[in-house]
Amino acid sequence: MSELNPHHAVYVGSFDPLTLGHLDIIRRGAALFDRLTVGIGLNPDKQPLFSPDERESMCRTALAPFPNVEVKCFAGLTVNFVRECGAAVMLRGVRTLTDIELEFTLTLANRALDPAIETVFLMAGEKYSHISSSLIKQIASLGRGNTSEQLKSFLPREIIEPLLAKFPSK
Ligand code: ADP
Repeated sequence: MSELNPHHAVYVGSFDPLTLGHLDIIRRGAALFDRLTVGIGLNPDKQPLFSPDERESMCRTALAPFPNVEVKCFAGLTVNFVRECGAAVMLRGVRTLTDIELEFTLTLANRALDPAIETVFLMAGEKYSHISSSLIKQIASLGRGNTSEQLKSFLPREIIEPLLAKFPSK
């Protein structure tokens, strides 16, 4: 088996869309590791708001300021993607005790699948722990009037317009 780089981490998610919570984990992960790959998971069981191409392009734009961060889409098992990247670390963010419980099971399953890959957790920043992509989609679909202004505390600037464009009646 090929050697995995312990200074290279992979951060996976749906990023539908990328939020300030994700961005905070990416910023901190990029400072900890030499290289960080953001993996956009294509899950056939989920019906995303944004297409894989849209998510990839929005992530590339928002993450352009980070020279050691790259963006890729992937399908299939996360551990396989991490190994294909040559990374030894899977980075995850945790917001709540519920997140920790879910992540615990996931980590044990991933460890059984590929013991060479270590999972590293970062606690959500206190300003971001309430943010989730699904909450943001709800705000965008139900809000009226000054939604664009309100979304500034949840989303990177570049993502506000593309999100509102998905709800043209707003
Ligand atoms: P999925 O929908 O596939 O679970 P997400 O995009 O919701 O993917 O999450 C990807 C990763 O980012 C997960 O580790 C998740 O716990 C973490 N995460 C999501 N939102 C936040 C946030 N606000 N702060 C910190 N970590 C977060």
